[in-house]
Amino acid sequence: AKSLGGDTWRFFAADMRPRASQTAHLETELRGALSRREFVLFYQPQIDLRSGKVVGAEALLRWQHPERGLLAPGSFLGLAEETGLILPINEWVLNEACRQGAVWEADGLGDLRIAVNMSPIQFRRQGVETLVKDALRSSGMRPTLLELELTEGILLGHDEHIVKQMHVLRSLGVTLSVDDFGTGYSSLSYLRSFPLHRLKIDRSFVQDLGSDPSALAIVRTIIDLGHILHLQVLAEGVETEPQLQLLRLEGCDEVQGYHFSGPIPADAFVAWVMQHGQ
Ligand code: C2E
Ligand code: CA
Ligand code: CA
Ligand code: CA
Repeated sequence: AKSLGGDTWRFFAADMRPRASQTAHLETELRGALSRREFVLFYQPQIDLRSGKVVGAEALLRWQHPERGLLAPGSFLGLAEETGLILPINEWVLNEACRQGAVWEADGLGDLRIAVNMSPIQFRRQGVETLVKDALRSSGMRPTLLELELTEGILLGHDEHIVKQMHVLRSLGVTLSVDDFGTGYSSLSYLRSFPLHRLKIDRSFVQDLGSDPSALAIVRTIIDLGHILHLQVLAEGVETEPQLQLLRLEGCDEVQGYHFSGPIPADAFVAWVMQHGQ
């Protein structure tokens, strides 16, 4: 098991079986999790800095494990990617997020955008546009309310196939953002060649905003770059008021982070929106 993270180790710390057999066990459990409906989506609010209103939510995957409790993706995503199980899992995520989005729309919750994380494998192997079209059609969700978060890794190859799919998605009305911006092999040229809407500044830069002048310089540069290219810029991982103030000063458009709320279940998210205004 090469790319299993630290969480996986802790996850199995009490398990005395050999590592390979533990991995096999996790894989078996992971295979059954979809049919047993053990996956659930949590939602983290995204706030517009100018209006102070909630404009969207990022859908984040959780595994409600019958014995081990609620698991964050760090403990099983690596294996899901290695085994290809990420494909059916992410297909479920997409459908579930769209279903939820349509319900919230019908409930009059406002124009809440829902962002879904896309896996690199998914973008390469599956017909993403077909998946997305199907999810939108069967849910009835308004396409402009769906956002797909892509990593720099997906964009890096300048793959014709990927560019084509992105244009099809855009023509549907779906918006596209770059996740963890600044942490990949930032080839700036891809920003021009892809139909993007938003950059999400990685939380590692936001975290050091108050303490490290170079973090501030990087955040400022990303915001300026985004705006020059007519992209919206969202800062992730905002945890403190000083970080928020700096981001506001720098002209950042949107924020997301524990300072507002962590990822929470759908019903708690609705309550949060009601309380904090739309
Ligand atoms: P990400 O896309 O960068 O998601 C943001 C992560 O940062 C989430 O971790 C979130 O809980 C956490 N976070 C949010 N605000 C703060 C903050 O203020 N401070 C700190 N320290 N952390 C914050 P989570 O939910 O454990 O997800 C981890 C990663 O797993 C995600 O990183 C994403 O890459 C991946 N992931 C999550 N859901 C999915 C999914 O449905 N499909 C795929 N392919 N990947 C997913
Ligand atoms: Ca993300
Ligand atoms: Ca991110
Ligand atoms: Ca990430």
